[in-house]
Amino acid sequence: MRVGLIGLGIMGKPMAENMVRAGVDLLVSDLNRNSVEVVANAGAQPAVNKEIGQSCDVVMTMLPNSSHVKAVMLGDEGLVKYMKEGTVFIDMSSINPVASKEIEAELEKKGISMLDAPVSGGEPKAIDGTLSFMVGGKQEVFNKYKPLLETMGSSVVRCGEVGAGNTAKLANQIIVACNIRAVAEAFTMAKMAGVDPALVYEAIKGGLAGSAVLDAKGTMMLDGNDYPGFKIDLHIKDLNNALDCAHTVGAPVPMTADVQEVLQWLHSSGNGQKDHSGIIKYYEHLTGVKL
Ligand code: NAD
Repeated sequence: MRVGLIGLGIMGKPMAENMVRAGVDLLVSDLNRNSVEVVANAGAQPAVNKEIGQSCDVVMTMLPNSSHVKAVMLGDEGLVKYMKEGTVFIDMSSINPVASKEIEAELEKKGISMLDAPVSGGEPKAIDGTLSFMVGGKQEVFNKYKPLLETMGSSVVRCGEVGAGNTAKLANQIIVACNIRAVAEAFTMAKMAGVDPALVYEAIKGGLAGSAVLDAKGTMMLDGNDYPGFKIDLHIKDLNNALDCAHTVGAPVPMTADVQEVLQWLHSSGNGQKDHSGIIKYYEHLTGVKL
């Protein structure tokens, strides 16, 4: 089985390296030549998109948003032109579920199957191959390609038909954003009340407030580390998709709308490329207090 991966950013690069390590015959491409070189040094073969479409049984993408995936797959030089009947497209980007369904409809016309398979876990889990995959698509397609996803992840769960993977991811992103904000708010209050937030963390991490977010992002706040990780601008993108999805189905999401405004402030104040743990900067701005 020959696989092609387009998109070698913070996530795509280590995911490609894990596929190569697992023995996958992998072709790669990205607009950024440096990233391609790094992954080529690990054993992948650099290629142009056309070649990936023509020669791969499985085409994968790990791109920023719906417009990028649509352009790469359905644009003027889109891969759909080159992929053969019976091949499969697996999109691991976090995009709007509506866009996933639109892409699937176009691919179906050529007999190409699709899975939407966004991930959770961030760069550390991409590096150690323990990502969580949320997958949408036909059961038989899922069964066939689950082992390929398992070369990059420790949890691979089918949530329904195409679009269900990205719907699950939007739910994940709502929970993560609200959770990070709660940590930032609580640490700031503790500091202002004269209690060391690092000791608060030690005291509460094993209790009900303990979470992967508290461990991964709370500690970044305490260390003053805002190196991404997951960029604030990407989280704004995800919450825009969540608000769009929620408004379409009539689901009330007031917490999502509120935390989106905080992220928007961070973007406007020049922090869009920083890690989303940078929500702490919003509280520093409000209070003048640093952790
Ligand atoms: P990134 O910005 O680091 O990487 C995106 C890559 O796509 C870049 O290398 C860019 O050059 C490439 N690219 C853009 N347009 C292209 C095109 N037309 N052709 C080829 N390459 C193109 O983003 P990332 O952090 O790796 O995230 C990728 C996706 O994974 C996003 O949808 C994001 O929301 C999701 N995600 C990220 C994390 C994280 O912690 N970073 C975690 C889970 C999910």
